[in-house]
Amino acid sequence: MASRIETGSCFCGAIAAEMRGEPFWICYDHDDDCRRAIGSPLNVWIGYRPDQVRFTSGTPKSFSKTKGILRTFCRDCGTSISYRDEGLPDELYLTIGFLANPERFQPQAHAYWRMKLPWVALADDLPRLESYSRRRDPALGNPADR
Ligand SMILES: [Zn+2]
Repeated sequence: MASRIETGSCFCGAIAAEMRGEPFWICYDHDDDCRRAIGSPLNVWIGYRPDQVRFTSGTPKSFSKTKGILRTFCRDCGTSISYRDEGLPDELYLTIGFLANPERFQPQAHAYWRMKLPWVALADDLPRLESYSRRRDPALGNPADR
């Protein structure tokens, strides 16, 4: 059976990527850093292993405000593309907005539910986690404390 292939691109099209295989984790995120970085009340992150993701056009620009956290975006149109965290070394997260077929990616949980905006009403039965939905390397601490 052929491996699942998904694609993504930024708003202007300068950056494009191809993802092979199944994402290992799909999660709503209500945290305030991502809200500001992405410009949306919440995001859905699609988690892949780094070797599943290959950029087929362009190179995203990287930005790090918090030690160990690397975000990327398109330098031309500003589309948010990815999130890496040294506390999650084998995980690469793509924004739902970057994907060509976002309807195929069903979230599995809510992360940072405690930061959810009060007027965001969601009627799903997914787990509501107060903080990270992934186990980070405890030696690195929490980015919010750095
Ligand atoms: Zn772009």
